[in-house]
Amino acid sequence: MNNLFKVTKKIVGNNTAVRHIFNGSRKLQQTQTNVEAATGLHLPLTTLSDDELAMKETVARLAQEQIAPHVRAMEDEGRFKDSVIDMLFNNGLMGVQVDPEYGGSGCNFMTTVLCVEELSKVDPSVGILVDLQNTLINNVIIKLGNEEQKKQYLPRLATNTVSSFALTEPSSGSDAFSLKTTAKKDGSDFILNGSKMWISNSDLAGIFLIMANADPSAGYKGITCFIVERDSPGFTVAKPEKKLGISASGTCMLTFDNVRVPESNILGEYGKGYKIAAEFLNEGRIGIGAQMIGCAQGCFDATIPYTLERTQFGKPVYTFQSMQHQIAQVATQLEAARLLVYNAARLVDAGQPFAKEGAMAKWYAAEIAQQACIKCIDWMGGVGFSKDFIQEKFYRDVKIGSIYEGTYNIQLSTIAKHIEKFYKS
Ligand SMILES: Cc1cc2nc3c(=O)[nH]c(=O)nc-3n(C[C@H](O)[C@H](O)[C@H](O)COP(=O)(O)OP(=O)(O)OC[C@H]3O[C@@H](n4cnc5c(N)ncnc54)[C@H](O)[C@@H]3O)c2cc1C
Repeated sequence: MNNLFKVTKKIVGNNTAVRHIFNGSRKLQQTQTNVEAATGLHLPLTTLSDDELAMKETVARLAQEQIAPHVRAMEDEGRFKDSVIDMLFNNGLMGVQVDPEYGGSGCNFMTTVLCVEELSKVDPSVGILVDLQNTLINNVIIKLGNEEQKKQYLPRLATNTVSSFALTEPSSGSDAFSLKTTAKKDGSDFILNGSKMWISNSDLAGIFLIMANADPSAGYKGITCFIVERDSPGFTVAKPEKKLGISASGTCMLTFDNVRVPESNILGEYGKGYKIAAEFLNEGRIGIGAQMIGCAQGCFDATIPYTLERTQFGKPVYTFQSMQHQIAQVATQLEAARLLVYNAARLVDAGQPFAKEGAMAKWYAAEIAQQACIKCIDWMGGVGFSKDFIQEKFYRDVKIGSIYEGTYNIQLSTIAKHIEKFYKS
């Protein structure tokens, strides 16, 4: 620490600034890179850069001011309020990592994670809307789109068009690559036939990434990713499913009846759709981890003040040691989950392998978040069971974390595969 203090002082040049650094002020973020480079020491995982911190604070404020008042109405109506969608676009939250050249915010992956976490503290439905747009759809186009595709789609995605990522089908969920939707070559077009199930945000989406098999004889190596517009003839989006939680997020079935898509709408390489799905879902899972810790933290933050005020046996219920121990345990587990999620996000930004860490982050965050929300309801007593309080909504919303973007078992199998590979090598 002394060394770090001295070197930091040298870099920053005055004692006051150095003191600010060690007080955890913003100066710390400003000089983070310099300090790390100069000392070889690493700052805490939760240390944010200036830009990350500014975005996190802005999103937290926007969520309180512009989402919180509408959460129950959006849940009851099963759709987002237009003003909420506009707010997300107007503040760059639908194009967090999109380059400003294409109308985006030009931030890193960690910033996306922070945005999803902050939004999910208020409404995990809004969290998943922003998560999918950024971690899956935008991300694939940024990394694999050609210049024409980037110019055509990124400005829309960043400024006014919701999108969906469609892999799952009625008969293929965990076994995603056994999908049956076909894409048959016809001149310079492909003709899509089949259906997709459980597609998030598809009630609103204008742009869809569709995984279809262009060569079933090649098995999963025929799977190709197509960009499909909502108004394509033969393409229909059914009514949203009625769900246990995240009700404002529309989840629909899609049907393709001879949908003609130009070859130029293939995203990435022909026959590499399986790779796209596998690789980008690895990143997407970290976003789901962020949704989970946000959901649990939002529930926790709404609950602890109640336990400090509610008195039984002449004392606030928080003061009972058995309550405090449970609360301390949940707070610790939540912090551990957050560190896993942030570490996985930092690995993405550093260009390091992250598949195992992403699966660990998603699995653990989902598990801990579920436990946290259950506990919050217990700590509230009878009112925790009432729809007049928000805890029951978080409790229902949090359940999705163990299902989408790979169930619990699929995450654990991924982690186990990495462990096996490590010990066999
Ligand atoms: C609200 C919601 C939103 C969704 N959004 C999207 C979306 O936007 N895009 C999209 O493409 N998909 C989406 N999905 C689909 C989601 O990813 C799948 O539901 C999920 O992958 C599980 O597939 P399944 O439902 O077919 O379950 P199944 O695969 O049938 O699994 C049933 C059970 O069997 C277990 N199981 C299956 N295979 C194995 C195995 N090999 N080893 C051990 N256990 C196994 C599973 O863990 C699970 O417990 C969404 C789903 C929901 C509910």
